[in-house]
Amino acid sequence: MKFSELNTYSRERLRAKLSAQAKKHGFKSGKDHPNYRGGIKTSREGYVSVLIGSKYIKRARLVMAEYIGRYLKPNEIAHHINGIRDDDRIENLRLFDSNSSHTKHHHKLRKLSKLMLEA
Ligand SMILES: [Zn+2]
Repeated sequence: MKFSELNTYSRERLRAKLSAQAKKHGFKSGKDHPNYRGGIKTSREGYVSVLIGSKYIKRARLVMAEYIGRYLKPNEIAHHINGIRDDDRIENLRLFDSNSSHTKHHHKLRKLSKLMLEA
């Protein structure tokens, strides 16, 4: 599957493609390939990415893409509501349409927690 094609996939097709990809790349016989890491990696920042074709894509973005039925635009951000970066359950994800609205949200959260600590 080409990464660029993700945009055009319906939710069902994307799900089918992703599970085919997962089957193809992973979860069964990692032993056969010494360098094989299961098609999943965790970044130093704690984000989990999945190998799709030759590219690693953040799992949070894939879960959100599945949910909304289209792939995320580059400017869109899947934010982790509870702050746990590898908790990619859909209930824990919120879509922001830009980095600035996402950053604003984080500033608001920081302000709130500061207020709570002062109280
Ligand atoms: Zn965030």
